[in-house]
Amino acid sequence: MNPVALITGASRGIGRGIALALAAEGWDLVLNYASNVAAADETSHQCRDLAQKNNHKIQTYLCPADISQDSDRRRLIQFARDSCHGLDLLVNNAGIAPKVRADILETSEASFDQVMNVNVRGPFFLTQLVANWWIDQTPAVANGPASRKIITISSLSAVAASVNRPEYCISKAALSMLTPLYAARLAEYGIQVFEIRPGIIETDMTRGVKAKYDDLIADGLTPIKRWGTPEDVGRAVVACASGLLSFSTGEVINVDGGFHLRIL
Ligand code: NAP
Repeated sequence: MNPVALITGASRGIGRGIALALAAEGWDLVLNYASNVAAADETSHQCRDLAQKNNHKIQTYLCPADISQDSDRRRLIQFARDSCHGLDLLVNNAGIAPKVRADILETSEASFDQVMNVNVRGPFFLTQLVANWWIDQTPAVANGPASRKIITISSLSAVAASVNRPEYCISKAALSMLTPLYAARLAEYGIQVFEIRPGIIETDMTRGVKAKYDDLIADGLTPIKRWGTPEDVGRAVVACASGLLSFSTGEVINVDGGFHLRIL
C-alpha cells in the first residue's frame, strides 16, 4: 500500500510542487483546494502522469474545502478517512496574502481577520483534527519509531518585517509556533512535526511583485541569486517525509536561497 498525504492548497503554486514531489515517490494524495477546480484537476493529472513515469501507481482524491471554516475542515478530514486506508502525512500549505498590500498604519481589521483565519486558525485546528484521529488509532508508542508526520509551510515573513503586509507577517510568525507546540505534544505518539520556511518563490502569490523582486534578487538580496520554485519546496517536503530524519522533530528548514543568513 502506498503512503498517503493530505496537502492543503494543492491546486496551484507551492502546493502543486509538493504534490508532484510526493507523487514521484509513490504517495497517494488527498488534494485540497479552495475553489479552483480546473487547477486542482490539472495537479491531479500531472501527479498521476509523473508517478507513472516513475513506475508508481498512485491514487489522487480532490476535495474543495475552506480551511478557515470549522465545518469544511471536518468535512475534509472525513473525506480523507472515507477515501483512503489511512493517513501518513499532513502538509499545511494553503495560505493567503492580504488582498491589498497596505501600510501598517492603514491595515484593516477585516484583512487582519481574513489572513489570520486562513493562515493560522486553519492549520492549527486542521492539525488538531488529524492529531486526534491518529491518537485514537494508536496509543502512545513511547520511544518507538516515528511513522507519521505534519509539515507546515510558513514563510520568511515569519521573521522578516514587511511593513506593507503586517497581517501576513504576524500570521506566519504565529504559524511558526505551531511546529514546536505539536512536536512537543505528539512525539510520544510517533508523530514528527516540521516547519518548512520558504523564501521568495515564483507562484501566483508573487506574480504582482515579480519585477520588484527580480531587481532585489539581482542586487544580492539572497546569496543564491535566483527565485525559488515550488519544486524546491516539494523536494524539502519529501526530505522531511522520507523517514531519514528519524531523530529530529520541531525543526525549521529554510528553503530561501540563504535569505535568512546575517552576513557581515
Ligand atoms: P498560491 O499560488 O496563491 O496558491 C494558494 C493555494 O492555496 C491554492 O491552491 C488555493 O486554492 C489554496 N487556498 C487559498 N485559500 C484557501 C483556503 N481558505 N482553504 C483551502 N485552500 C486555500 O500560493 P503559494 O505561493 O503557492 O503559497 C502556498 C503557501 O506557501 C502559502 O501558505 C504561502 O503563504 C506560503 N509561502 C509562499 C511564498 C511565495 O513566495 N510564493 C513564500 C513563502 C511562503 P485555489 O486554487 O482553489 O484558490
